[in-house]
Amino acid sequence: MRCSVCGREAVIKLRHAGLRLCPEHLVARVEKEVASAIRRFRMFSPEERILVAISGGKDSLALWHILAELGYRVDGLYIDLGIAGYSAPSREASEDFARARGLTLHVVSLAAELGASLDELTRLARGKTCSLCGTVKRYLMNKLAWEGEYQALATGHNLDDEAATLLGNVLRWDEGYLARQYPVLPGEGKLVRKVKPMVFLSEREMAAYCLIRGIEYLYQDCPHAEGARSIALKDVLNRLEDRYPSTKISFLRQFLKVRDRFRPPAPVVLHDCPSCGMPTAAEGPCRFCRLKDTVARHASRVTEDRGAAA
Ligand SMILES: [Zn+2]
Ligand SMILES: [Zn+2]
Repeated sequence: MRCSVCGREAVIKLRHAGLRLCPEHLVARVEKEVASAIRRFRMFSPEERILVAISGGKDSLALWHILAELGYRVDGLYIDLGIAGYSAPSREASEDFARARGLTLHVVSLAAELGASLDELTRLARGKTCSLCGTVKRYLMNKLAWEGEYQALATGHNLDDEAATLLGNVLRWDEGYLARQYPVLPGEGKLVRKVKPMVFLSEREMAAYCLIRGIEYLYQDCPHAEGARSIALKDVLNRLEDRYPSTKISFLRQFLKVRDRFRPPAPVVLHDCPSCGMPTAAEGPCRFCRLKDTVARHASRVTEDRGAAA
């Protein structure tokens, strides 16, 4: 198999792009795609400060690496969720990556911010782990980006992630989510702009990129992701892609062309949370502060019980 660009030995075949690439040209393609997505969607300028959400997995570390390579002013944010058997190694992978490259990584722990780890929170709030995780992560990422005076918050969502999210939104015909699914979401007030510069790059390309670039990431997936709906959606898309290459890329690209037709059910009016001051769609305390309250109430009950037992 020969590289479509230079004719040397190719290491990856990208059927959806009609390309076979050698290591050098795979790297060139990935970095070019990221740079062109940033320009095309006006994600951020070279003067702006960018915060990348880091999980320790291949996509977020690769994104951080690429943005730094491209010369952007970029720092990382790692949120330690306290997931048994997963958070410790993912934090280590993130810290090792930053140290080896002299990059700045902010580390915050959910236990310190909320009073409970994600595992404890799931027990106390009786919610679904992945949905609680999404809520607390979105809140903390935005709050830290805002407080740190970053102009954009970048995440490593890839083509496989975006296509699966899109399929999920289409299956529910969720107009609100469809209207908001876009590679860049403008900031508003204390809501920091959100950007996804890797949405046109597949999972396979990112894995190959990390291998070639010597990026050591955590292979293990979050233990909670196992039964998640997103895995089933990815599975369906992978089977379609096998038979009909470029299913995912055209699904996403064509959607972006018609996305304007979807309207959120009602314009969202943001209020300031009376307790933390961050924006919230409903009046009264934001969801994070309400969860924090639940955790605190439980903690005081436990202390009282212990006091009564003594
Ligand atoms: Zn080549
Ligand atoms: Zn709040």
